[in-house]
Amino acid sequence: MRIESHLYCIGSGAFGFDLSDPYDCNVYLFDAGEAGYIVFDSGTGLGIERILEICRQDGLVPQHIAHLFLTHAHSDHAGGAAHLRERLPGLTIYASAATARILSTGDELAVCLPQAKAAGMYPPTYVYRACPVDRMLQDGESLQIGRYTIQAIATPGHSHDHQCYLVCDHARRYLVSGDALFFGGKIILQNTYDCSVPDTLASLRRLAGYAFDALLAGHLNFSLHNGYRHVAAACAMMDKLRCPPSIL
Ligand SMILES: [Zn+2]
Repeated sequence: MRIESHLYCIGSGAFGFDLSDPYDCNVYLFDAGEAGYIVFDSGTGLGIERILEICRQDGLVPQHIAHLFLTHAHSDHAGGAAHLRERLPGLTIYASAATARILSTGDELAVCLPQAKAAGMYPPTYVYRACPVDRMLQDGESLQIGRYTIQAIATPGHSHDHQCYLVCDHARRYLVSGDALFFGGKIILQNTYDCSVPDTLASLRRLAGYAFDALLAGHLNFSLHNGYRHVAAACAMMDKLRCPPSIL
């Protein structure tokens, strides 16, 4: 699904736009021209063929996907990394060191997969496949890929390994927020060992320190203009000693 001239949503599940597998998160693609395509999050892997087909339908060439950035290790965001790498051997995968530790060993306990399956969030037969991460990004680290500058922002809370990305070109600033912030200033809190309410709220305050035009969240709507209002809404709730509502 083409969003802007160089921005696409190529995967999204039942908690989004019903484009690919129902369990997938939103998967965003930036076309960086000669530098290849930059993809944020992979989905579960269950919808990988559909994701590649969506690319073709949008006039994209799947083989040009050169960079995959992961927001966190949860199955719906990173479980498809191994599947993508299998089809795209030249792919470079970027993530936080904590995400890399979990994904490179395919640690199903670390991503709470047994509990998530029991809760009906994934099919019982789903397997979280191990995948090495090529480049570990520290908090604040920036990369230049084609016309895009991509900065990692550590945002623990929804999960301890969570990292958002600020993507900027000469004209626009996009916050790829994964599961840290959603439309309307909402969050995701889960009854899992890796979720922390205080860390989630502190990360929202951190995000409020960055200027951005568009919010590209891991589920539900994206927001193309005045996207900052969503983090402002979350902060306004916290100012009244309230927790922003959780989408789960
Ligand atoms: Zn998550």
